[in-house]
Amino acid sequence: MNTPTVPNFIAGQRTQPQPHNSKQHQVINPATGETIAHAELDNIRAADAAVAAAVEAFPAWASTPVGDRCQFLFRYKNKLEEHFEELASSIVREHGKTKAEANGDVRRGIDCVEFACAAPTLMMGRTLPQIAVSSSFCRTEDKSGVGIDSSVDRVPLGVCVGITPFNFPVMVPLWMWPMAIACGNTFILKPSEKVPLSAVREVELAHEAGLPKGVLNLVTGGPSVVDHLITHDDVRAVSFVGSTKVGHHIYKTACAAGKRAQCMAGAKNYMVIMPDANQDAAIEGVVGSAFGNSGQRCLAGSVAILVGDTPSWFIPKIKEAAAKLKVGPGGETGVNMGPVIDKASQQRIEGFIASGHKDGATCIFGGSPSSAPSTEHRAPSTGCFVAPTIFDNVRPGMDILENEIFGPVLSIVREQTLDAALATMNRSKYGNMGVIFTSSGYNARRFKTHSQVGMVGINVGVPAPMAVFPFAGWKQSFFGDLHANGEDAAKFYTESKVVVARWM
Ligand code: NAD
Repeated sequence: MNTPTVPNFIAGQRTQPQPHNSKQHQVINPATGETIAHAELDNIRAADAAVAAAVEAFPAWASTPVGDRCQFLFRYKNKLEEHFEELASSIVREHGKTKAEANGDVRRGIDCVEFACAAPTLMMGRTLPQIAVSSSFCRTEDKSGVGIDSSVDRVPLGVCVGITPFNFPVMVPLWMWPMAIACGNTFILKPSEKVPLSAVREVELAHEAGLPKGVLNLVTGGPSVVDHLITHDDVRAVSFVGSTKVGHHIYKTACAAGKRAQCMAGAKNYMVIMPDANQDAAIEGVVGSAFGNSGQRCLAGSVAILVGDTPSWFIPKIKEAAAKLKVGPGGETGVNMGPVIDKASQQRIEGFIASGHKDGATCIFGGSPSSAPSTEHRAPSTGCFVAPTIFDNVRPGMDILENEIFGPVLSIVREQTLDAALATMNRSKYGNMGVIFTSSGYNARRFKTHSQVGMVGINVGVPAPMAVFPFAGWKQSFFGDLHANGEDAAKFYTESKVVVARWM
């Protein structure tokens, strides 16, 4: 059977990429290694066609009343609910998540659509009446009908572009385009070439819900398409989510080309476990954070700092909990950790595990499929599986501590005090998330105040903000001024127009 080529979606139509000499990416099912589609990588002509469609659609869409634009989003939310199972299954197939994780991906995406329905409030401007009276033109003594008023409106930008990563195939695109179009912009989505199929369906459903053609377009592609889009004369703004290296490149390139840019980037997240923590809640939180989504989350807690005598209870309990994880195809019942995205990722993660051994960290769980102490979490031989792995006695300078692994590897660092733990955590170049497990309000407040991260969890392993709050990474986890989601997103996708009006 011929493997399908991932379509583009331009001007309201599914279009097959024109055959040319473009390189292709093999989209695989990571649970089996089977190729399920091909994605064009150098789709420049399609990118140009998508920009042209978005430019053409912009004037009519921008002048459509914001309430009518939101009516589309209400219909779209219902479409997503109707097709919830289909989208979640598509995520399991092309990404490898467990069904429960895929459900979360779709649900959190729907939250963003619901939030974008608040655009009429979020886009409201401000007015300051009677900032001055121009007496020379004033014809009457009564000044109430004359004078100068000033206001600021929030207006759409034009064509916006979104570049998304592989790890949340449905949700991350929905961080971007619903708010962008609710604010009156038109949009081009360039999804990850590793998981384009769910995004194509997401965009197709938008058209089934009645979105006018050209308002939302999708092109597949790799770096050449991204660089073309983010420097295109007709593009006004760029939203990116992905690794720090690529995010920094995109931020610099887009800004140098005069675009507005927001780039949510990579992470290395620390969890501090105090001796006074609720032990079961801490273990559950750490396991979910480190191994959920097979560690492929920008909010994955990949370092646990054990303070004081915490190791005495934490170490045996975390080993026991990790041994209960069943690794396997995400669609299978009872599996709670799926594969990683592809063979290259698997090899990269295995390279980090090898470096942990070489650098002298103590491997207390996993480490390689053959050293797994229980059959339950042994990695299946086909597909891109990595067994959950835990290293103790990890120290600064080790590769497993200094780098984002983006896989199911937990590093344990030991410190004597909360302040020492904070100092270790704050030396990280990343600043996405920090978590504390404690039963002390004093410790929690101290941690909240002194942690140099944008998202803080207190007795919560993955403090993912609801769509009404910004996804607030700091340091090398974010480049830009206005984050995705929350009011930031409405500000990012609009600009200010200040009016000074005189009546005499
Ligand atoms: P990635 O940076 O490899 O790819 C992201 C996007 O950039 C893809 O669409 C890809 O096609 C494109 N791209 C890749 N290389 C490029 C290049 N050289 N030039 C231009 N474009 C390029 O990221 P990924 O592996 O898909 O996703 C994982 C990363 O995303 C992790 O680092 C994770 O922490 C991060 N992430 C961050 C957040 C956040 O909100 N901070 C959320 C999710 C994921």
